[in-house]
Amino acid sequence: MVNAAAARRGAATAALAGLALLAGCGHDEPVAAAGRPLPELLCPDGPPAALRGAPVVVILLDALNPSFLTCYGGRADLTPHIDGLAAEGVRFTQAIAPAAYTISSIASLLTGVGVGAHHTWTWKPEGNHLPADLPTLAERFAAAGYATAAIVHSPNGSTAFGFDRGFQHFVDLWKVKRPYPRAEDCWPALDELLAARDERPLFLWLHILEPHEPYHPPDPWRGRLDPGYTGTFTGDPVQLWSIRNREVVPDARDLAHLRAEYEETIAYADHAVGGIRERLERAGLWDRAIVVLVSDHGEGFLEHQGLDHAGMGHGSTVYDEMIRVPLIVKLPRGAATAGAVQAQLVASLDLLPALAELVGAAPAGAARAPGRAAVATHSESHEVHRLLATWSLRDARWKYVDTPGHPPELYDLAADPGEQHDLAAEQPGLVESMRRRLAELAGADLALGATTGAEGPAPPADSPELQEQLRALGYVR
Ligand SMILES: [Zn+2]
Repeated sequence: MVNAAAARRGAATAALAGLALLAGCGHDEPVAAAGRPLPELLCPDGPPAALRGAPVVVILLDALNPSFLTCYGGRADLTPHIDGLAAEGVRFTQAIAPAAYTISSIASLLTGVGVGAHHTWTWKPEGNHLPADLPTLAERFAAAGYATAAIVHSPNGSTAFGFDRGFQHFVDLWKVKRPYPRAEDCWPALDELLAARDERPLFLWLHILEPHEPYHPPDPWRGRLDPGYTGTFTGDPVQLWSIRNREVVPDARDLAHLRAEYEETIAYADHAVGGIRERLERAGLWDRAIVVLVSDHGEGFLEHQGLDHAGMGHGSTVYDEMIRVPLIVKLPRGAATAGAVQAQLVASLDLLPALAELVGAAPAGAARAPGRAAVATHSESHEVHRLLATWSLRDARWKYVDTPGHPPELYDLAADPGEQHDLAAEQPGLVESMRRRLAELAGADLALGATTGAEGPAPPADSPELQEQLRALGYVR
């Protein structure tokens, strides 16, 4: 009898393996040199003693394109709380996600492995549950004596897909808030958690939905940034689906309005971050803790219409607006890195292993993630929902895009950060070397994935509560 989970994995793995088979041929062009590992970027002189056993709080805001944050060059005065965190921490300007959509990126963030290694590629019925024998970083923190807790607003980051493994306390807020949890809804759950905590150091994972669509924050955030707009476009999931399917075409003014609604949602998420900070300060944790702001992927607004690629929202392309994420890491008070800006390329999936190392939670002999010369990213396709449809490889300067059925694309991010001028035809040697490098990285992930053979249960795709939430968030039409 064919095991259903194995069949699901087999189909997706075959697509990835096709990419890996491309390794080992073609010209050799120099690839970018590897940068320093993430722990060294955070603590260049090695972790100080005060970091050992420090509380760790990770705040993940879903679908946050960093270029909209004030501290990353976005609208003035939009995100005072996140900007305040950046002033106390290290702000990474080139942090790249492993996937352009939630479930696969979260699986990588929580395990520290690439997309090919964890089998958790889609919330759809052909998808999979996190393999039971793939270690999670929450398990690592728990084994080191941490109290591990999560408050999760998104079904795609939840128990539904096995992401609670290693967390002693896991609040699936999406199951109790209709139509979906608001950013502020984490506050009571956080109050409860902090009141009940014991002497153990805390590892806390907060996955908040905003600014994920719909771009409809509560009052007074909603409608304040573009009150003069008289058009019909609004950031609700039904209309965003119509844009993705090209049933309606927003003009430049409409897109400016959609961006303003997205910014309003970001401002509301920033307000929630302020409330989280207040609570951590009241509990005496803020100054002692490592506090991180990160996202699972970015968000696009049809930046690549002219290149015949859709790109509204996320998950459909691997251009930077969908794969570059904010990453801000505040170390305990007194760290020499406060206010630093770090421009080296980093992979967001290296975050939790790096933090585990810095606080002394890595097991003896654990391999450290190397510095990254390049980061591979996967995207699904909103048009045909193919598994493993598109991949990119991004180094500090170049972006290579591999889409089945399309010619390869190559962009010089230094000269063309908007990725509007495809140079693949002019740089065939570089295209070939980046394709080989991508195939090597994908092959390494596949090899690791082949060792995690446990057949986790299929996700509950037919659960009415999951379907309701997925519809509210624009995943299901
Ligand atoms: Zn997401």
